[in-house]
Amino acid sequence: MTDCIFCKIVKGEIPSRKVYEDDEMLAFHDINPSAPVHFMIVPKEHIDSLATIEERHAGVLGRMLAKAGRLAREQGSPEGFRTIINTGRIGRQDVYHLHIHVIGGPDPLGRMIAPASK
Ligand code: AMP
Ligand code: ZN
Repeated sequence: MTDCIFCKIVKGEIPSRKVYEDDEMLAFHDINPSAPVHFMIVPKEHIDSLATIEERHAGVLGRMLAKAGRLAREQGSPEGFRTIINTGRIGRQDVYHLHIHVIGGPDPLGRMIAPASK
């Protein structure tokens, strides 16, 4: 997709701090990190979001998840991490190219999500 920022990162048209790359995925540091470790794993193929994923994408999505642990350890999150996939308007997705946030660091993170206000 020509006007997609993550497609441009995949093609090298916009610079990124690369964490990992293979034939079907790229991992790079978030430009606005939420924790000491915060990078994203994206498929090289443009997929809008988890809401519109197709059955044929299940393999690459699984392999993206399977990479998270090793990459998180290498990046400085040795004892676990958080994965987030923001999806659509309700999920507050800003960039419509599917991405898995991997967030962590040497210390435990805050709560996952604030309790709903009554
Ligand atoms: P989301 O709200 O899940 O769609 O998250 C989009 C994420 O992309 C945000 O955490 C941004 O900080 C991050 N982001 C946006 N532009 C860039 C960029 N050029 N390089 C790295 N991360 C980016
Ligand atoms: Zn894209």
